[in-house]
Amino acid sequence: MDDTILRHGFGIKDQQILKVKYDQGRIDIYVRTKDKSLKCSGCGSKEVLRKGYTERSFLTNPIGLNAVHLVAQVQRLECKACGLVRQERLSYADPKKSYTHCLEKYINDLLRSMTVTDVAANLGMSWNTVKGIQTNVLKLNTTTRYNRR
Ligand SMILES: [Zn+2]
Repeated sequence: MDDTILRHGFGIKDQQILKVKYDQGRIDIYVRTKDKSLKCSGCGSKEVLRKGYTERSFLTNPIGLNAVHLVAQVQRLECKACGLVRQERLSYADPKKSYTHCLEKYINDLLRSMTVTDVAANLGMSWNTVKGIQTNVLKLNTTTRYNRR
């Protein structure tokens, strides 16, 4: 399936779309990392063998009034170079987060003119998650400014 929407809509280049489901205001885009982009999360080698996967869902930017989830097949990989068997590291989300980098950026843009409560209600997310994203960016900005001195 054509992955143009991932590249142009969400800035994700290394995923292929397996299928798309629409259901009452929710769009699920099923994705998997392209074979040529798979690499060991330990040493970075591309000499890896697929050893099954786990399905995980990541909230990303809405399309119109529809919530959009990337339903990912997160691959378990065996590295021929270093011998590790680990899950791949996704390019579009942090390991323990259930939302994409792209959504984080969108939320921080919204927070310039909306309250945390408004943003959480608009995106159907918890107040704590939105506040956590805002706090992480504030920490990053402080670190960056500090390092420039
Ligand atoms: Zn490796």
